[in-house]
Amino acid sequence: MLELNGAAFGAMQQSYGGDTFNTAVYLTRCGAGAIKAWYATALGDDALSLELERRWAQDGLALDLVRHIPGRMPGLYQIQVDAQGERRFSFWRDNSAAKAYFEIAETPLEARIGEWDAFYFSGISLAILPADGQNRLLAFAQALRKRGATVVFDNNYRPSLWPDIAVARDCFSRAFAVADTALITADDHQALFGFDSLALAVAAAQDLGVFEVVIKRGAAPTLVRSGSGPWHSVPTQTVTNVVDTTAAGDSFAAGYLSRRLRGNTPEDATQFGNRLAARVIAHHGAIIPLDAMADLL
Ligand code: ADP
Repeated sequence: MLELNGAAFGAMQQSYGGDTFNTAVYLTRCGAGAIKAWYATALGDDALSLELERRWAQDGLALDLVRHIPGRMPGLYQIQVDAQGERRFSFWRDNSAAKAYFEIAETPLEARIGEWDAFYFSGISLAILPADGQNRLLAFAQALRKRGATVVFDNNYRPSLWPDIAVARDCFSRAFAVADTALITADDHQALFGFDSLALAVAAAQDLGVFEVVIKRGAAPTLVRSGSGPWHSVPTQTVTNVVDTTAAGDSFAAGYLSRRLRGNTPEDATQFGNRLAARVIAHHGAIIPLDAMADLL
């Protein structure tokens, strides 16, 4: 999505971002040349779309899965800091190009199914798609997993993107069923499934039946388990100056996957995800400058 940062009718800074996009950028950085990230989405044929794509290429993403849909536009959001210092988001994405990604007989993502080692998608990927697109995405994930690739689902739950919570619950349950790895933000799991306490949400996440599960709980230790192994509790970093929690979970996912894809243990990968996320929340913006994280790579 395009980002406009600034007050209404003031000067606004233009940028771009989005949850899976942030993860793709951080994954490329953490992969240090050993991991290539393709980003599958759709843009229009307008000037902003073309400029976005040019910048994404500079970020190091492989873009040959991006569709260009004439007449559609990228989604847009505005961030404004209110009088209390809270960030407020406004979105214009109801008719975004990305929503129409699957409105074609076979997408480039599906056509090249034999090429992918891993596929990462989130609750927001599902939320923005119409029902047909959700079905296509989940069928693709299932087929990919059958071929031996790793399917990773990140449970970003944004209630405002779902007209009906029952539909969201059903869609997330289907996503957990096709995933080998679930990255769970405990708060989101609680909100979606209506648990009375965070402890109940964590217990339910531990019981999901997904092969590998990571449960993130903000500053509290992160829980991780793979297969029939034990649960590990991995401390987060102490961050004394949290300035912007945007992309905490997105960067965690990238850090975690960058290590898992290179054969590190789930505990090591969690520790690295926690270190990267701690660095990201100590800086402004979703994508922090590369030199602010260079010592971690
Ligand atoms: P999300 O961004 O997905 O809502 P969380 O708030 O659980 O997720 O945060 C994701 C990760 O960011 C955590 O697992 C942790 O590594 C890091 N993190 C978030 N808040 C803090 C904090 N206050 N101190 C240290 N690390 C944090």
